[in-house]
Amino acid sequence: MKVQVPVVVQDPHTARFEGVPVTEGWDIEGDEVFLDGPVTDRLAVIDFDPDTQAVTPGVAFEPPGATRKMGRYAVVDEDDMNAGDALKVCLFGTVRKTMSMFETPDVLGRRVTWGFDAPQLLLVPRAGQWANAFYERDSHSIQFFYFDSGGATINTALSRDIVAHETGHAIVDGLAPDLYNALSPQSLALHEAMADMSAAMMAFRSHNLRAAVLARTGGSIEDTTAFASIAEEFGLALGRPGSLRNLSNEYSLDPASPHCVPHDEPHGLSGVLSGALYAVVTRLHGRLTDEYAAGGMERPAAAGKALGVAEQRVTRMFFRALDYLPAGEVSFADYGRALLAADQASHPDHDQERRWLQDELVRRAVVTSASDLDVDTNFEEASVKGIDLGLLVDSDWAAYGWVGARRALFGIPEDVPFKVHPRRDATKLFYHRDGPQRVRECIIKVSWDQPEPNELGAGLPEQRSVTVGTTLAIDWFTKLIRCRLVSGAAGGGGGPAAAQERAAGRAERTALLKAMLQSGSLELGRRAQGLEGMARPSIVGAANSNGVMRLNGTARMLHLAQGVT
Ligand SMILES: [Zn+2]
Repeated sequence: MKVQVPVVVQDPHTARFEGVPVTEGWDIEGDEVFLDGPVTDRLAVIDFDPDTQAVTPGVAFEPPGATRKMGRYAVVDEDDMNAGDALKVCLFGTVRKTMSMFETPDVLGRRVTWGFDAPQLLLVPRAGQWANAFYERDSHSIQFFYFDSGGATINTALSRDIVAHETGHAIVDGLAPDLYNALSPQSLALHEAMADMSAAMMAFRSHNLRAAVLARTGGSIEDTTAFASIAEEFGLALGRPGSLRNLSNEYSLDPASPHCVPHDEPHGLSGVLSGALYAVVTRLHGRLTDEYAAGGMERPAAAGKALGVAEQRVTRMFFRALDYLPAGEVSFADYGRALLAADQASHPDHDQERRWLQDELVRRAVVTSASDLDVDTNFEEASVKGIDLGLLVDSDWAAYGWVGARRALFGIPEDVPFKVHPRRDATKLFYHRDGPQRVRECIIKVSWDQPEPNELGAGLPEQRSVTVGTTLAIDWFTKLIRCRLVSGAAGGGGGPAAAQERAAGRAERTALLKAMLQSGSLELGRRAQGLEGMARPSIVGAANSNGVMRLNGTARMLHLAQGVT
């Protein structure tokens, strides 16, 4: 069955400025079940009437029939965006399109799953009056709020940037759940950077927006807010024109740089990584435009084609990396290694974009030299011989036994309990010069807790627990190891660069915890609880477990506390 849904092109304010329609149609094809709501097997829109707080009736689904080739949701007036029915259906369409960007055969090659134990992500388009929107694992939901600005109502559920950003958080939580309770500022910032890149890649996917912006800028994407800014209308309404975060930036971790950002503030920190990634997009776009123009294409057409091709290529690179990310807390360097490994394993002889990314990460002081990002790919490993990958995927018991007998391969210290995450059986599509090729791989992620000194005082435990881990990706047919990545924070081996990376991570965790203590957002034990033992929403709870501190829900608190997405 084919179903057409409206998708928000940009927010209403920016759409008017760029002269593009507010929504465009997008087709969903497959075996999903559509019910009134919209409700499907993976998404459910739940809307509350702003005046009465009663749940509003779902929008009726009209299946394909004699007079209609495609199914649709019966919206009375698609131009009246603030009406409840259009709001619900547009929000659903935009979330669903963001999911499909991750699920295509050349990106993750499978359906995304959520970071909670339930089939449906709940979408709440009018959760209340507030200038905010957030994904929350505990309630399985993304909640979008609305607020008044100059007499007009701004619905955050109508900003494609905000919707794609929050959907990105929900998807990343399913792929890398350990980031949700992380202590490391860079782990939390990685969540933000991936959510921002989801929003930017969704902007590139709109034909209408692409054409309008390239026509205005003469074919460049380097200096335009329509692509490189997150939540433009939102920023404007809050009196911060130019959006909340600009991805086209020079942010750096180098204290000597005029663009250095604080190392303990995850939102600002995320700009370092997203800036590096966005720089790769602009370079690739420039190179492809030149190539197509040299081949005889008119420059505006060349720029348009180049943007479509560049977007697809980087979407694969940026999001496939999440499959190879080590379990546990990770740094930008860990993400860089995962990205390079994922790309190198499948395209060993084409390394232009990889070199650009290495340059950016060195230039922004994420690592000191490009060799810090080196990873071996496609190698033989004796202890993997004879492995039954099907059994390993299906059986937790078999997986624990297999990993337990190979602690050294995973870097797990002796006598430390470990967790084997659900194994992934993924088949991805790769494009090579001699045609497309499918690679099936088994991805095994393992994590364990590593103690480190907790130099905070304030009656807090003297040690804290940091989750670290390893990812092993095995080619299903050749049994070659496509990559083995251990989080940089794990263990004590490696050279001086590895030791420096570990020390920097530890110092950043201490700085973040100190800042949280100072702002009163970190509370130990029972003090973190509100009425009747419920978690207090703006507080991160710290638990003392035999003298070791553990935290819960840092990613969620950051959204609430910052008042931005
Ligand atoms: Zn966010």
